[in-house]
Amino acid sequence: MFLYHARWVLPISRAPIENGTVGVEGERIAYVGPRANAPSGTDRDLRDAILLPGLVNAHTHLELTVIRGILENLEFPDWIAALQGAKRAVMTPAMLLDSARMGIAEGIRAGITTYADTCDSGVVLRALREAGVRGIMYQEVFGPSPGDAELSLRELRDKVEVHREVATALQVVGVSPHAPYTVSGALFARVAAYARDANLPMAIHVAESEAEKQFVVDASGPFAERLRARGIRVERVARSPIALLRDLGVLENRPLLIHCVRADQDDVRTISATGCSVAHCPVSNANLGHGIAPVVELLAGGVRVGLGSDSMASNNRMHLLEEARVAALMQRARTGRHDALSAVQALELATIGGARALGLDARIGTLEEGKDADLTAFPIDEDSGAAGGDPVAAAIFALGGSKARFVSVAGQPLVEDGELVTKYADLRLRVQSAADRLRAWKLDTSRSS
Ligand SMILES: [Zn+2]
Repeated sequence: MFLYHARWVLPISRAPIENGTVGVEGERIAYVGPRANAPSGTDRDLRDAILLPGLVNAHTHLELTVIRGILENLEFPDWIAALQGAKRAVMTPAMLLDSARMGIAEGIRAGITTYADTCDSGVVLRALREAGVRGIMYQEVFGPSPGDAELSLRELRDKVEVHREVATALQVVGVSPHAPYTVSGALFARVAAYARDANLPMAIHVAESEAEKQFVVDASGPFAERLRARGIRVERVARSPIALLRDLGVLENRPLLIHCVRADQDDVRTISATGCSVAHCPVSNANLGHGIAPVVELLAGGVRVGLGSDSMASNNRMHLLEEARVAALMQRARTGRHDALSAVQALELATIGGARALGLDARIGTLEEGKDADLTAFPIDEDSGAAGGDPVAAAIFALGGSKARFVSVAGQPLVEDGELVTKYADLRLRVQSAADRLRAWKLDTSRSS
């Protein structure tokens, strides 16, 4: 047995343990408790560190990592259009794969061991496997024209069949009908029925922007105009984006609902009653000017909520402790209550909350005997700026952005002594050249528009 000793062990399922130890036997956790009572084994001293369950990122677009910094200061519909343009004009499958590898390397260094990724190209499953991290790749599907629904579904099924060959116990496949303004009602209903039959998890971007709400509620606004310009009929469909998904029968799948910024009381009740989970992305939502999701209300309704960084094109960073800090601060600012979201609750969102939202809480999300050994440890020495008094407050309010000292997935170390076990020297150069090409494309398009 390997014995990971740390100044603080935060099991999440119970109170922090000072001078604690997590014992790992193969893939599993075999002991959690005081160092003084630990069974015998091989010592791995993490010293002045906070040892946590591996962090769970409930929403990423890893293939877009390289687009970081390219799409700043755009109105949301223009941002979406520019993103699609960049993908079409510049991004080859090889670049997208490298981009995903780079994103995972960054995430591992930030202590993220699980990734729930919505992916258009389908490269992420391979990148997750190579890196040895845990994840769900939801294959995206688009298709705003109802006439194309059957064809889009067939293409989706073909892609999922191929992915399922590559999937493992750690890296699984799901589906993601992208969003109400890119997926017709006919396609939503077909994909939901397929996912139920094939037992595939599902994730949907929903209730994110004002433009999406306008599109759903009265068939107006920039998304409606763009579709009409393409000859696609757009009609008033529902009282809210969440109500639209309910009316289409999509919520019966209990999908992971990404964003839910524009969710009113009725919507929160619907999400709660249908047993859907939510990926909350506070930094991306703030950055794009969408607002603040009603996380306090969702949690009060018993909804399973996790935290997502969203893509590097809308966040620029992937650090779940920072995401948790922003989540806590924003709920406090929004509600005017200092205790709206405590540090303990924020840390739960980044760990067991995300695990529950993804249906993985039997395996990960807390440090408990029998669970998989997905671990992460952050240094709290004088260099990290974290105070040692309250380790949960330190984790949430002082460790955002810091690099993990140790990370493992199912007992397999991915970071040791603050260094990635697998090095990525050539990858860095390839990603740099991809970023240069994106910058050149952006200069070209801004000159010609
Ligand atoms: Zn997203």
